[in-house]
Amino acid sequence: MKTISTVLAIVSLTVCSSTSHAQLSSGWKAHDNNRPQPKVVDPGEAASKSSVPSDAIKLFDGTDLSKWDGPDGKEPKWIVKDGVMECVKGSGFIYTKEKFADCQLHVEWASPANVKGNSQGRGNSGVFLPGGYEVQVLDSFDNKTYADGGAASIYGQHPPMVNASRGPGQWQSYDIILRMAKFDEDKNLTSPAMITVLHNGVVVQHGSEPYGPTSWVLHYDYDPKKTEAPIGLQDHGNPVRFRNIWIRNLDTTVTQGTYAKERDFTEDEVKRFVGKYEGDHEVSLIDGKLWLKNLGRNMEMRAYADDTFGLLKSAGSISFTADDDGKVTALKFKFDAGQNGNFKRIE
Ligand code: MG
Repeated sequence: MKTISTVLAIVSLTVCSSTSHAQLSSGWKAHDNNRPQPKVVDPGEAASKSSVPSDAIKLFDGTDLSKWDGPDGKEPKWIVKDGVMECVKGSGFIYTKEKFADCQLHVEWASPANVKGNSQGRGNSGVFLPGGYEVQVLDSFDNKTYADGGAASIYGQHPPMVNASRGPGQWQSYDIILRMAKFDEDKNLTSPAMITVLHNGVVVQHGSEPYGPTSWVLHYDYDPKKTEAPIGLQDHGNPVRFRNIWIRNLDTTVTQGTYAKERDFTEDEVKRFVGKYEGDHEVSLIDGKLWLKNLGRNMEMRAYADDTFGLLKSAGSISFTADDDGKVTALKFKFDAGQNGNFKRIE
């Protein structure tokens, strides 16, 4: 039997846990040095030249910064030379003039070949996604930093699954897929943002859900007003280079289909179709539902008219022919998947 003090302790623990400050789902506070380091994976050689999908918007093709602004809409001060752009210390972020939301973003970058600094001070920049999430750019080749701040981390929140970094000075790529956070009419968060990242072709973030916009030390709350925004590249004081940046807007609208009107039937109405047909086809009646056996698979049927049917889960039509006495003599179907035929009844 529990003593009163034990019971009180349990009650107090229960109350404590239910009213304690919300813990991040990862169980890690930002920048915890005890968080395990991502395993190192050699991503292989860089592709010599990336091609660009036909529906992509080229944000930087090596020519100029015409698609970019500096801070406060001013002219960007980053250098463009030899087909690449380079961050200039103290010049500030650069931002795309165009705003984006759900997108696929390709960015190639290289940290300085001349290695200087360590941890967050070595080859630091960042790709800032609409909604305010930084995919960290850092020379993470043999450069330890807190796990949630390495290259391809969702900064301060989600470390990459593995460290697929190439060495200093080598070109690296990010392929980032962003789904924006969704809000209801009352501006309540209905689903967090989702970020997938391939670093040098290696999946390192797979549908990672930010806790909100990223920041150093802080986590901000989701902002329902941030439905679209420019892409930003960070000036963190290091001469990180970028090239071949393109983006595709993703239309995630799901086209809603409409089923043809279905008709109820009684067993008496449809039992005349039950039987075996050529080609190992069979129509059976099980628990008041009609099933068609085709290629050894039983598929539930739906009725659209007295003698016209379809399948519950696949598009197409099934019809029957009858002789002058009303006896069903053949089964005919045409499925949108490409299969069709006319089969005589054999039993
Ligand atoms: Mg950064």
